Amino acid sequence: MDTKYIFVTGGVVSSLGKGIISASIGRLLQARGYKVTIQKFDPYINIDPGTLNPYEHGECYVTDDGFETDLDLGHYERFTGIHTTRNNSITTGRIYKTVIDRERRGDYLGKTIQVVPHITDEIKRRMLREDEKDEQLDFVITEVGGTIGDIESAPFMEAIRQLRWQLGRNAVCVHLTYVPYLKAADELKTKPTQHSVKELQSMGIQPDILVLRTERHLDDHLRMKVASFCNVDLECVVQSEDMPSIYEVPVSMQKQGLDAAILRKIGIPVGEIPEMKAWHDFLDKQHNAQREVHIWLVGKYDLQDAYKSIRESLNLAGIYNDVKAKLHFVNSEEITQENVGEKLEGLAGIVICPGFGTRGIEGKIIAAEYTRTNDIPTFGICLGMQMMVIEFARNVLGYKDANSREMDEKTPHNVIDIMEEQKSITQMGGTMRLGAYDCELKEGSRVYEAYGKGKHISERHRHRYEFNNAFKKEYEAKGMKCVGINPAANLVEIVEIPEKRWYIGTQFHPEYSSSVLNPHPLFMSFLKACL
Ligand code: GLN
Repeated sequence: MDTKYIFVTGGVVSSLGKGIISASIGRLLQARGYKVTIQKFDPYINIDPGTLNPYEHGECYVTDDGFETDLDLGHYERFTGIHTTRNNSITTGRIYKTVIDRERRGDYLGKTIQVVPHITDEIKRRMLREDEKDEQLDFVITEVGGTIGDIESAPFMEAIRQLRWQLGRNAVCVHLTYVPYLKAADELKTKPTQHSVKELQSMGIQPDILVLRTERHLDDHLRMKVASFCNVDLECVVQSEDMPSIYEVPVSMQKQGLDAAILRKIGIPVGEIPEMKAWHDFLDKQHNAQREVHIWLVGKYDLQDAYKSIRESLNLAGIYNDVKAKLHFVNSEEITQENVGEKLEGLAGIVICPGFGTRGIEGKIIAAEYTRTNDIPTFGICLGMQMMVIEFARNVLGYKDANSREMDEKTPHNVIDIMEEQKSITQMGGTMRLGAYDCELKEGSRVYEAYGKGKHISERHRHRYEFNNAFKKEYEAKGMKCVGINPAANLVEIVEIPEKRWYIGTQFHPEYSSSVLNPHPLFMSFLKACL
């Protein structure tokens, strides 16, 4: 079968959940046995989201091959279990950089370089994944960030228009809009959707399928109205109502025949509705989980999206342990020796979150001391692990001035130090230790048991600093064990205190590889300990 291309655009407002819809389409097509990938095109100028402030853009997600991407790629991976790469996350900045580099090399032989055709051609090349010609996909789902009508998304729309023309039935456009409810009039309004589709049509794109985001159920009459005003078949107008959980969305889309509508548009026989047993089993577990377990996230970004993958990993592990993980955010800047007991009262476990820079780190260290001395399950991730290590140095090894080189350049007790290969780097973007690296687990350790698949694992990283091996012996002698080591560089990837109930820190980010059908073993084990 030729590869088919599905384009997902959004109108009216942002934050409608295009990422969730794209991921759901991916899941539904997989359930029918198709091989899919999902990619995101973002119209901003940054080369990648790695340098973006989490307050503005939420978490930075990292792929196996070490690319810093938008958090939507996390949804794609959690819903579908696929592993994305740097070619699944493209920005305007990257498109321009490729074209400008080519121009500087003289590849264009003196031609005038323009948005059309040079920029649009490069967008098309990426949308068609021409750098990955041998991956043999049935479907490529392309989500375009931003909202129809934005100046910066115009070249992407032009590329989609051209591709639709070129690909004929092998391309389908799904447009996501919003149907607001006006309380005073007690009415649901379709006008914004009509305008949004008109805008799309004015760029030469006729959507095949409309997904209407709504807080209230839309009746057939309303759907019919939208269908006839927008030149779309009635069965191609589906609604995306607010759901108790994003993981219900694929099922709701399947019930309304979104995947069937896509297949019909392309001309593929629809056949039977796939059963998706494992997914339904997961949803049943989610419904049945009554008991609550309270987990504290200690970090500095007071914004849900900043720790998206950690939150989802905890939720998923909770569900598989038959409990609801109730997550509470504690701003580490507000934690002091005096109030730590009060701030962390009633918790079953704590996650010390990743991060960069000095702000809020003393609070993380105080929290780590509190949970270590009170033997409360503690999971430190990346910077969180580094804070556990510093706390141990200060309070157990007796080095009061212990710190990370990141926070204190001059400390003689730099238990966390800069990596050798990072020392000469002055550029900001894409320069850390990024992506998946091998790790060897120590037999008999808690993490070895948790993974339950032998010594060899691989996990994704995003950091500049590392455990300083000069102090390793002292740590081990005093009870903090280095139980995961990167064999190639001899870097410490995991520390644990075996005599505690669950006190583990990982230099890597396990949250990036948790999915709905495969919750991460470390989060599973942590949740068990919290119970
Ligand atoms: N700032 C730390 C480092 O660069 C930790 C990074 C992180 O938590 N992702 O090593």
